[in-house]
Amino acid sequence: MVDWAAVRSLRAWLAWTCLQLCCLPEPGESSTRLLAATIGRAVPELPDLTVVAEAFHAALAGRPIVAATAPGPLAVRGTPAELAALVGRHVTAIAQRGKFLAIDLDPDRIVVNPMLTGRFQLARPEEKLPTKTAVVISFGPRSGAPKRTAPWTRRAGWLPADDATVEVRYRDPTQMGKVYLLPAGVERSVPGFADDELGPDADDPGLTLDIWRQRIRRHPGELKNLLKNQGFVAGIGNAYSDEVLHAARLLPFRKRSDLAPEEVDALHAATRSTLVSAIDVLRRRVPPTFEKQVRDFLAVHDKGGTACPRCGTRISEVKPGGFVTSFCRGCQR
Ligand SMILES: [Zn+2]
Repeated sequence: MVDWAAVRSLRAWLAWTCLQLCCLPEPGESSTRLLAATIGRAVPELPDLTVVAEAFHAALAGRPIVAATAPGPLAVRGTPAELAALVGRHVTAIAQRGKFLAIDLDPDRIVVNPMLTGRFQLARPEEKLPTKTAVVISFGPRSGAPKRTAPWTRRAGWLPADDATVEVRYRDPTQMGKVYLLPAGVERSVPGFADDELGPDADDPGLTLDIWRQRIRRHPGELKNLLKNQGFVAGIGNAYSDEVLHAARLLPFRKRSDLAPEEVDALHAATRSTLVSAIDVLRRRVPPTFEKQVRDFLAVHDKGGTACPRCGTRISEVKPGGFVTSFCRGCQR
């Protein structure tokens, strides 16, 4: 007989221990301080990275890289020579894919997986460099603004002037995240980024209701895990899975195999509407401090004990594996 309760508690303990090990302090640094750096932080998800990608594309496309340094080299997957060789490359596009940010250069590429504590800052070179900055890339002047920018970014006050030099600073206090240098002709795998590991982005207009119904059949398990499964749909993590399920009025530990067809359809609609409205809020509230995570507008996630905004019931909270799951017993079934 397998003692599943013991297996589950062992898994939870292992997940928490791994998190602690990943956050081991550097010499001379207190573990309390580093733990404090991770508490209250959360993985950037599709809405966060969409806004960063749209803004950075508008600010940087068409600019050449004029310098690239790595004060925190542990965060870089690539050689110092590859980092130096980025100088002179021009940015063609910056885009979000799943929980990654991709910077396309001509002909190379940089892909960033910020994990838990990685954040991006857009700054003038004279602005003070934040502590724990792992990578700094400087971009030179460009001749004219790029095409294919998101409408909300046009004429934004935070856009650097075309003749200005501007920096992207990737800051990561735990260095759990990684910056992958992908020069043309170099084979370097980016874990989780391969085509067979990433489903369509959860807000991809091509993810129609028909495709959703087909894809979801392969996943019989609990709904929260389903939404967080990047192979099913990409970009949703611990926070937005709670939000989508609240919008769909479905409990996180319900099984997909128990859902009625109309509940499967409701989950599709809720995924789309939750992400679209979150992106809309973040476009208004995040710039120009792209390094700050805005989550206070969420309906249920991490709001345990407060009143559900839809029905007033006290929001429930559980922490399997140390990660918060929040839901409402009043209006989710
Ligand atoms: Zn409720």
